[in-house]
Amino acid sequence: MSGEMVIAGAIALSALAMSVIVGVRYLLTSGAFAWATRLRHPGLYRGLDRQIGREIRWSLASAAIYGVPAGIVAWGWREQGWTRIYTEVTAMPLWYGPVSILLYLAAHDTWFYWTHRWMHRPALFRAMHAVHHESRPPTAWAAMSFHPWEAVTGAIVIPLLVFVLPIHVAALGIVLAIMTIMGVGNHMGWEMFPRALVHGFIGRGLITATHHQRHHDVYRGNYGLYFRFWDRLCGTDLGLGHFDSAADSGERTGLAARSRRGVG
Ligand SMILES: [Zn+2]
Ligand SMILES: [Zn+2]
Repeated sequence: MSGEMVIAGAIALSALAMSVIVGVRYLLTSGAFAWATRLRHPGLYRGLDRQIGREIRWSLASAAIYGVPAGIVAWGWREQGWTRIYTEVTAMPLWYGPVSILLYLAAHDTWFYWTHRWMHRPALFRAMHAVHHESRPPTAWAAMSFHPWEAVTGAIVIPLLVFVLPIHVAALGIVLAIMTIMGVGNHMGWEMFPRALVHGFIGRGLITATHHQRHHDVYRGNYGLYFRFWDRLCGTDLGLGHFDSAADSGERTGLAARSRRGVG
C-alpha cells in the first residue's frame, strides 16, 4: 500500500470514529433529556412517536456529517500538528481559559445567527431548513434534526475555529458539552432553568428553551443560538415564548395536542 493510501485510510478511520462518537453523544444526551421529560412531564411527547423516529434518523445522519470535518481535523491535530488546540495549561495565561470558551461560544453564535437567518429565506428554507421545522413542536430528539445541507453549515464551524482561536483541549470539551446540552435542552418542550434565571437579568442575554420555543412557534425571529445579542441588535428578538401550563404543571396533555391547536 502506498503512503498516500495509508494516510487516506487513517483520515477516513478518524472521520468514521468521530461520526460514531457524535452519534453516541447525541443518543445519550437526547435519551437522558427525553427520560427527564418522562419523569417531569409525563405524556408530553404522547402522539409524537413518528415525529421522534424522524428526528432520530435525521439526527444520526447529521452526526455522520458532523464527524467528517471533525475527524479530518482531529487526525491533522494528532499527526501533523495542525490547529491551535493546546494541551499544556501553561501554554497560555490562565485567564485565557474561560475567555477562550466565551470566544468560541460568541463566534459559533454569530455564525449560527447569520446562517440560520439566511436559511429562513423562502428559497433556501425548503432546501435546507424545513426539516428542522418539521418537528412541530420539537422534542429532546430534535437537537440535530437537520437536513444534510444544514448539517454541513453546522459541522464546519468548530473545525474551522480551532485553526484561528487558540483553545486548551479541555476548554474545547466544555464548549462541545455546552453546545450539546443547550442544543437538546432548547428543543425539549419545557424549561429546565429556574424561572428567576430565564425571566431575570441572565435570561435577558442568554437563550434557553423558552426563547427558542418562540422561534419554533412563529419562525420570524429569535434566530440566535446561545446569546440574544444579534437578535437584539438586528431587531429580530421576539422575546420569550411560553409553554402551556401543561409543561409547567406536568398535566397530561401531550405536545402534539397542544400543537394541533395551531401554534407554528
Ligand atoms: Zn430549533
Ligand atoms: Zn429556524
